This record gives sequence, C-alpha cells and structure tokens, in this order.
Amino acid sequence: MQMNSSGPLVDQFQRRISYLRLSVTDRCDLRCAYCMPERQVFLPRAEVLSLDEMHDLALGFIARGITKIRLTGGEPLVRRDMIDLVRALGRRLGQDTGQGALEELTLTTNGTRLAEFADDLAAAGVKRVNISLDTRDRATFATLARRDALPQVLEGIAAAQAAGLKVKINVVALKGVNEAELPELIAWAHDQQFAITLIEVMPLGEVEEDRFDHYLPLSLVRERLESRWTLTPSEYRSGGPARYFTVAETGGRLGLITPLTNNFCDGCNRIRVSATGQLFACLGGTEQVDLRAALRSPAPDAALSEALDLAMRIKPLRHHFVIDRPGAAPALARHMSMTGG
Ligand code: SAM
Ligand code: SF4
Repeated sequence: MQMNSSGPLVDQFQRRISYLRLSVTDRCDLRCAYCMPERQVFLPRAEVLSLDEMHDLALGFIARGITKIRLTGGEPLVRRDMIDLVRALGRRLGQDTGQGALEELTLTTNGTRLAEFADDLAAAGVKRVNISLDTRDRATFATLARRDALPQVLEGIAAAQAAGLKVKINVVALKGVNEAELPELIAWAHDQQFAITLIEVMPLGEVEEDRFDHYLPLSLVRERLESRWTLTPSEYRSGGPARYFTVAETGGRLGLITPLTNNFCDGCNRIRVSATGQLFACLGGTEQVDLRAALRSPAPDAALSEALDLAMRIKPLRHHFVIDRPGAAPALARHMSMTGG
C-alpha cells in the first residue's frame, strides 16, 4: 500500500495508476439512448469545477506520476473555453516533475464540434482522439442519439483527419440497432486508416429503455466476424482495457472492450474524476473521494495528495457488471456521462 504522499500512485492491489480520465462537463448535445435519458438532469453549474481548478487538479495528478490524461464528459467540446484547458495542459507535455512527465493528452468526443476545434486541439499538442460513432446510417443515428447530427459528426471526423490527429472510432455494440452494420463499420474505419474498438453496453444509470433488450455480447460478435474474416490476437496494448486483433482482410486493428463477458480489471491503471471533482476509484463502484474539498482547502497541495492516497486505499479489485435478465436495475445510479467512461 502506498502511504507516501509524494510518490507514484499505487493501489492496494499493487496496480500502478498512471492514467486519469477527467470529465470536464456532464452536459452533452446528444442523448444516446444507452447513455442518458432525454430529460437528463445535469449538474448545477455552481457545483462544477472551474477550468483553472481542473488545471490545478491535473497538475496534482501529474506530480503523482500520472502520464496520460484523457479529457471526456458528457461532451467535452460543449464546455465553453475548454480549449484553454487543453492548451494549458498541452504546455505540460514532456515536462518532468520528478515523478515523470505527462506523456499524452487525449480526448473522447462525440465529434459534433470537432470541425470547429480539430486544428486547435492538434496545435495544443493532442495527437489522438477517440470519436464515438455507433452507426453511419443517418436515420439510425438520429434515433439512437436522438439528434440528427450524423453529417456534423462525419465532418468532425474529416476535420480531425485533416488536422493530423490519429482517430480511433469507439462503437457501442447494440443488438438490433447497429448489430448488422458492425462489419461494414469496421471495414469503413480500416479503409480510412482508423483503429476501431467495439464496447459492450454497461448498466450505468437509468435510461428509458431496458439495456437488456440491446445488450450484445462481444463474444458473439467475435464469432460472427471470424466466420467472415481472419482475426489474429495482437500483443498491441493502448494502455486501456481493450484487447486487440488484426483483421487480415482489412489490414486494420480491431479492439474489443468486454466489461461483461471478459473482466479486465487485473491490469487497471486508471482513475476517474467527475466535473465536480469527485474521484471515482472504479467505473463500476461507488468508492469516491472529494477532490474539490481538497482543492478548496487552505493547503490544497497536501490535501490533494492525501486524498489521492486515500483513493489508492479504497480502489476496489474489480467491477461486477451483469446484464442477464430483463427489467433489472442498473448496477449504479450514476450515468457514464458523469465519469466519461
Ligand atoms: N460524449 C463523448 C462521447 O460520446 O464520446 C464522451 C463521453 S461518453 C460517456 C464516453 C463513451 O462512453 C462513449 O464512447 C459512449 O459510447 C460510451 N458509453 C456511454 N454510456 C455507455 C454505457 N452505458 N455502456 C457502454 N458505453 C457507454
Ligand atoms: Fe453524450 Fe457521449 Fe453520452 Fe452520447 S455517449 S449522450 S455523446 S455523453
């Protein structure tokens, strides 16, 4: 157990935590049906950390050996002046703190505002972006995201490509929604030289529909893909939970994130912070530490470091998600848009 308030972050299971996912807002311009309800109640703005506070928080993490920061949300690019935070953190890239340096600054986005921001992101030092795209069919997109925004998203993806950002496409695999389209989506992504990762839907937060109705185990998707293509397991790791395959016929890389069918928590290296400064020790757990209180205390550096030590002591071994029957309550009341995935 790490008791030293200045050393690298190591949890009670000796996992080295080097990756921070920081949700800059819980708000979003889409309403993906598996993620949040149409009438989602967002956090009062007064509860949310200022961008300066988020910057200070990020520096506190970097001082404890965090080397990778992913900005997420909600939709990170709907937060006003969010690019200022990206620029400020971008200036920290490669600067050694004694515990190592921030090596990577990335973003997960739905792509709706990328056309506006792709060049600024690249100029600020962002090298890669994850873009969520569950379908390339406009009508399916409009139904699933409850907004007719596919053209905007495709424009955003093209802008990211033109700005020289490496693009990874994230797809939540959904029975009866994009199930039949998955091979075509993979082939399209690989044709554009994008990596692509499929994700199992997780039971986080109440939504209108029953996630059981659209839960699609990736073990089944993999079997189906293997009847069409040659998938070879790859040693490649991105620092996240995905397991990768190369697809011989397309020449591209396919990631599978299987929180339900194949638990991957052994190698967990990450920690999540919500827009209100709550640290969530696990995406699938309720263990949390209030970093906002630490930041606003009279001695914020020491309080933050102590709070991070506490987080290391309470981070659980693994999540326990199941979607095995209709009508079950979500594993957690919290939506993914609080922690950004
Ligand atoms: N708005 C941005 C986006 O969509 O990329 C960033 C935040 S979003 C919460 C991050 C990722 O979580 C997206 O890829 C989204 O598809 C995924 N996601 C949201 N709710 C989910 C759920 N219940 N199960 C699995 N993935 C989910
Ligand atoms: Fe918004 Fe992302 Fe959730 Fe979709 S998945 S509603 S884009 S936060």
